[in-house]
Amino acid sequence: MIISTKNLTKKYKSGAGELLALNHVDLELKEGEFLAITGRSGSGKSTLLYQLGLLDRPTEGSIMIDGVDVLSLTEEERTYMRLSELGYVFQDYAILPSLSAIENVMLPLLMLGVEKKPAREKAAYALERVGLKDKLNNYPSQLSGGQQQRVSIARAIAHEPKIIFADEPTANLDSETSDVVLGVFLDLHKEGQTIVMVTHEKDYAALTDRVIELSDGKVVDDIKVKK
Ligand code: ADP
Ligand code: MG
Repeated sequence: MIISTKNLTKKYKSGAGELLALNHVDLELKEGEFLAITGRSGSGKSTLLYQLGLLDRPTEGSIMIDGVDVLSLTEEERTYMRLSELGYVFQDYAILPSLSAIENVMLPLLMLGVEKKPAREKAAYALERVGLKDKLNNYPSQLSGGQQQRVSIARAIAHEPKIIFADEPTANLDSETSDVVLGVFLDLHKEGQTIVMVTHEKDYAALTDRVIELSDGKVVDDIKVKK
Protein backbone atom coordinates (compact mmCIF):
# COMPACT_ATOMS: atom_id res chain seq x y z
CA MET A 1 0.00 0.00 0.00
CA ILE A 2 1.29 3.43 -0.82
CA ILE A 3 -1.09 5.05 1.67
CA SER A 4 -2.67 3.46 4.68
CA THR A 5 -4.55 5.20 7.48
CA LYS A 6 -5.98 3.85 10.71
CA ASN A 7 -8.54 5.67 12.81
CA LEU A 8 -7.68 8.94 11.13
CA THR A 9 -9.50 11.60 13.10
CA LYS A 10 -9.46 15.37 12.86
CA LYS A 11 -11.27 17.64 15.27
CA TYR A 12 -11.47 21.39 14.86
CA LYS A 13 -12.31 23.77 17.67
CA SER A 14 -15.65 25.33 16.87
CA GLY A 15 -16.94 28.00 19.24
CA ALA A 16 -17.14 26.39 22.63
CA GLY A 17 -17.28 22.88 21.19
CA GLU A 18 -15.54 20.65 18.71
CA LEU A 19 -16.25 19.71 15.13
CA LEU A 20 -15.43 16.18 14.05
CA ALA A 21 -14.20 16.80 10.49
CA LEU A 22 -12.73 13.32 10.04
CA ASN A 23 -14.29 10.48 11.96
CA HIS A 24 -11.97 7.46 12.31
CA VAL A 25 -11.14 6.94 8.66
CA ASP A 26 -9.42 3.68 7.67
CA LEU A 27 -8.19 3.90 4.11
CA GLU A 28 -5.78 1.89 2.00
CA LEU A 29 -4.54 2.97 -1.39
CA LYS A 30 -2.46 0.89 -3.77
CA GLU A 31 0.43 2.25 -5.77
CA GLY A 32 -0.75 3.44 -9.19
CA GLU A 33 -4.36 3.88 -8.10
CA PHE A 34 -6.39 6.94 -9.13
CA LEU A 35 -8.71 7.68 -6.21
CA ALA A 36 -11.54 10.20 -6.30
CA ILE A 37 -12.83 11.64 -3.02
CA THR A 38 -16.39 12.89 -3.30
CA GLY A 39 -19.04 14.15 -0.93
CA ARG A 40 -21.02 17.25 -0.16
CA SER A 41 -19.47 20.55 0.74
CA GLY A 42 -18.22 20.37 4.33
CA SER A 43 -18.06 16.56 4.38
CA GLY A 44 -14.32 16.55 5.09
CA LYS A 45 -12.79 16.02 1.63
CA SER A 46 -10.16 18.75 1.87
CA THR A 47 -9.44 17.84 5.47
CA LEU A 48 -8.72 14.24 4.45
CA LEU A 49 -6.54 15.34 1.52
CA TYR A 50 -4.57 17.71 3.76
CA GLN A 51 -3.86 14.99 6.33
CA LEU A 52 -2.75 12.51 3.64
CA GLY A 53 -0.66 15.18 1.91
CA LEU A 54 1.16 16.18 5.12
CA LEU A 55 -0.27 19.69 4.94
CA ASP A 56 -1.90 19.29 8.35
CA ARG A 57 -1.72 16.96 11.33
CA PRO A 58 -4.61 14.79 12.50
CA THR A 59 -5.91 14.77 16.06
CA GLU A 60 -5.71 10.96 16.30
CA GLY A 61 -4.84 7.95 14.22
CA SER A 62 -1.97 6.91 12.01
CA ILE A 63 -0.83 7.48 8.44
CA MET A 64 1.71 5.36 6.59
CA ILE A 65 2.97 6.66 3.27
CA ASP A 66 5.20 4.38 1.23
CA GLY A 67 6.17 2.50 4.38
CA VAL A 68 6.88 5.60 6.47
CA ASP A 69 4.95 6.44 9.65
CA VAL A 70 4.64 10.07 8.63
CA LEU A 71 3.27 11.36 11.93
CA SER A 72 6.53 10.44 13.63
CA LEU A 73 8.57 12.62 11.26
CA THR A 74 10.07 15.92 12.41
CA GLU A 75 8.80 19.11 10.77
CA GLU A 76 11.98 19.20 8.68
CA GLU A 77 11.52 15.61 7.50
CA ARG A 78 7.87 16.33 6.63
CA THR A 79 8.88 19.35 4.58
CA TYR A 80 11.45 17.28 2.72
CA MET A 81 8.94 14.52 2.04
CA ARG A 82 6.40 17.04 0.73
CA LEU A 83 8.95 18.53 -1.65
CA SER A 84 10.55 15.31 -2.82
CA GLU A 85 7.80 12.69 -2.84
CA LEU A 86 4.45 14.46 -3.03
CA GLY A 87 2.87 16.85 -5.52
CA TYR A 88 -0.07 19.20 -5.10
CA VAL A 89 -2.68 20.77 -7.34
CA PHE A 90 -5.17 23.23 -5.90
CA GLN A 91 -8.38 24.73 -7.18
CA ASP A 92 -6.83 28.22 -7.49
CA TYR A 93 -3.60 26.98 -9.23
CA ALA A 94 -1.39 28.68 -6.60
CA ILE A 95 1.25 29.70 -9.13
CA LEU A 96 3.28 32.88 -8.72
CA PRO A 97 2.26 35.74 -11.05
CA SER A 98 5.75 37.25 -11.10
CA LEU A 99 7.36 34.09 -12.48
CA SER A 100 7.08 32.60 -15.96
CA ALA A 101 5.60 29.13 -16.46
CA ILE A 102 8.99 27.45 -16.50
CA GLU A 103 10.22 29.45 -13.49
CA ASN A 104 7.12 28.41 -11.53
CA VAL A 105 7.82 24.77 -12.31
CA MET A 106 11.55 25.10 -11.54
CA LEU A 107 11.04 26.68 -8.14
CA PRO A 108 10.34 23.55 -6.06
CA LEU A 109 13.18 21.75 -7.85
CA LEU A 110 15.60 24.51 -6.89
CA MET A 111 14.27 24.31 -3.33
CA LEU A 112 15.14 20.60 -3.41
CA GLY A 113 18.69 21.47 -4.33
CA VAL A 114 18.55 20.54 -8.02
CA GLU A 115 21.06 22.58 -10.06
CA LYS A 116 19.65 25.24 -12.36
CA LYS A 117 20.34 23.48 -15.66
CA PRO A 118 18.80 20.09 -14.80
CA ALA A 119 15.95 21.95 -13.04
CA ARG A 120 15.23 23.83 -16.25
CA GLU A 121 15.33 20.58 -18.26
CA LYS A 122 12.99 18.75 -15.87
CA ALA A 123 10.61 21.74 -15.81
CA ALA A 124 10.55 21.96 -19.61
CA TYR A 125 9.83 18.23 -19.83
CA ALA A 126 7.01 18.50 -17.28
CA LEU A 127 5.47 21.41 -19.20
CA GLU A 128 5.74 19.39 -22.38
CA ARG A 129 3.90 16.48 -20.72
CA VAL A 130 0.94 18.76 -19.91
CA GLY A 131 0.89 20.17 -23.45
CA LEU A 132 2.49 23.55 -22.75
CA LYS A 133 5.69 23.15 -24.71
CA ASP A 134 5.01 26.46 -26.48
CA LYS A 135 4.29 28.46 -23.32
CA LEU A 136 7.45 28.01 -21.28
CA ASN A 137 8.16 31.73 -21.03
CA ASN A 138 4.60 32.98 -20.65
CA TYR A 139 3.60 34.62 -17.40
CA PRO A 140 0.41 33.46 -15.68
CA SER A 141 -1.42 36.61 -16.87
CA GLN A 142 -0.66 35.49 -20.43
CA LEU A 143 -2.25 32.07 -19.89
CA SER A 144 -5.86 30.92 -19.69
CA GLY A 145 -7.21 29.39 -16.47
CA GLY A 146 -6.84 25.89 -17.89
CA GLN A 147 -3.27 26.60 -18.97
CA GLN A 148 -2.44 28.01 -15.53
CA GLN A 149 -3.83 24.85 -13.98
CA ARG A 150 -1.65 22.79 -16.32
CA VAL A 151 1.39 24.80 -15.17
CA SER A 152 0.47 23.86 -11.63
CA ILE A 153 0.19 20.19 -12.66
CA ALA A 154 3.61 20.44 -14.34
CA ARG A 155 4.99 21.86 -11.10
CA ALA A 156 3.38 18.97 -9.20
CA ILE A 157 4.96 16.29 -11.45
CA ALA A 158 8.36 17.80 -12.31
CA HIS A 159 10.16 16.02 -9.45
CA GLU A 160 8.37 12.71 -10.22
CA PRO A 161 6.45 12.46 -6.98
CA LYS A 162 5.13 9.18 -5.62
CA ILE A 163 1.65 10.67 -5.12
CA ILE A 164 -0.22 13.65 -6.55
CA PHE A 165 -2.90 15.28 -4.41
CA ALA A 166 -5.45 17.46 -6.18
CA ASP A 167 -8.20 19.40 -4.41
CA GLU A 168 -11.05 20.21 -6.84
CA PRO A 169 -8.60 20.96 -9.66
CA THR A 170 -11.38 21.79 -12.12
CA ALA A 171 -13.63 23.83 -9.83
CA ASN A 172 -12.68 27.17 -11.42
CA LEU A 173 -12.67 25.98 -15.01
CA ASP A 174 -15.34 25.78 -17.69
CA SER A 175 -16.35 22.29 -18.78
CA GLU A 176 -14.24 22.18 -21.93
CA THR A 177 -11.09 23.25 -20.09
CA SER A 178 -11.93 20.91 -17.22
CA ASP A 179 -11.97 18.03 -19.68
CA VAL A 180 -8.46 18.95 -20.83
CA VAL A 181 -7.17 19.12 -17.25
CA LEU A 182 -8.81 15.82 -16.36
CA GLY A 183 -7.29 14.31 -19.50
CA VAL A 184 -3.85 15.31 -18.21
CA PHE A 185 -4.51 13.45 -14.94
CA LEU A 186 -5.75 10.40 -16.84
CA ASP A 187 -2.61 10.39 -19.02
CA LEU A 188 -0.39 10.60 -15.93
CA HIS A 189 -2.38 7.79 -14.36
CA LYS A 190 -1.90 5.63 -17.45
CA GLU A 191 1.84 6.08 -17.00
CA GLY A 192 1.52 4.71 -13.46
CA GLN A 193 1.09 7.87 -11.39
CA THR A 194 -0.75 7.48 -8.08
CA ILE A 195 -3.34 10.27 -7.78
CA VAL A 196 -5.75 11.33 -5.05
CA MET A 197 -8.28 13.85 -6.35
CA VAL A 198 -11.12 15.59 -4.57
CA THR A 199 -13.97 16.33 -6.93
CA HIS A 200 -17.69 16.78 -6.74
CA GLU A 201 -18.09 16.13 -10.48
CA LYS A 202 -19.65 12.68 -10.74
CA ASP A 203 -18.62 12.39 -14.41
CA TYR A 204 -14.98 12.91 -13.51
CA ALA A 205 -15.06 10.60 -10.51
CA ALA A 206 -16.40 7.90 -12.85
CA LEU A 207 -13.19 8.09 -14.93
CA THR A 208 -10.94 7.17 -11.99
CA ASP A 209 -10.31 3.68 -10.54
CA ARG A 210 -12.09 4.11 -7.28
CA VAL A 211 -14.48 6.57 -5.67
CA ILE A 212 -14.92 7.09 -1.95
CA GLU A 213 -17.71 9.24 -0.64
CA LEU A 214 -17.43 11.15 2.60
CA SER A 215 -20.30 12.27 4.76
CA ASP A 216 -19.72 14.03 8.07
CA GLY A 217 -16.09 12.95 8.02
CA LYS A 218 -16.83 9.27 7.49
CA VAL A 219 -16.32 7.08 4.44
CA VAL A 220 -19.88 6.05 3.58
CA ASP A 221 -19.16 4.52 0.19
CA ASP A 222 -16.11 2.95 -1.49
CA ILE A 223 -16.69 1.94 -5.08
CA LYS A 224 -14.39 0.35 -7.58
CA VAL A 225 -15.14 1.91 -10.95
CA LYS A 226 -15.90 -0.60 -13.68
CA LYS A 227 -14.18 0.14 -16.96
P1 ADP B 1 -14.99 19.81 2.13
O1 ADP B 1 -13.64 19.94 1.53
O2 ADP B 1 -15.60 18.45 1.96
O3 ADP B 1 -15.93 20.88 1.67
P2 ADP B 1 -13.63 20.47 4.61
O4 ADP B 1 -12.70 19.34 4.81
O5 ADP B 1 -13.06 21.75 4.11
O6 ADP B 1 -14.85 19.99 3.71
O7 ADP B 1 -14.34 20.79 5.99
C1 ADP B 1 -14.95 19.80 6.81
C2 ADP B 1 -15.57 20.46 8.02
O8 ADP B 1 -14.55 21.03 8.83
C3 ADP B 1 -16.48 21.63 7.66
O9 ADP B 1 -17.55 21.64 8.58
C4 ADP B 1 -15.60 22.83 7.82
O10 ADP B 1 -16.37 23.97 8.14
C5 ADP B 1 -14.70 22.43 8.97
N1 ADP B 1 -13.36 23.05 8.88
C6 ADP B 1 -12.49 22.91 7.86
N2 ADP B 1 -11.34 23.56 8.12
C7 ADP B 1 -11.48 24.11 9.35
C8 ADP B 1 -10.63 24.90 10.19
N3 ADP B 1 -9.39 25.22 9.82
N4 ADP B 1 -11.12 25.29 11.40
C9 ADP B 1 -12.38 24.94 11.79
N5 ADP B 1 -13.21 24.19 11.05
C10 ADP B 1 -12.79 23.79 9.84
MG1 MG C 1 -12.87 21.29 0.13
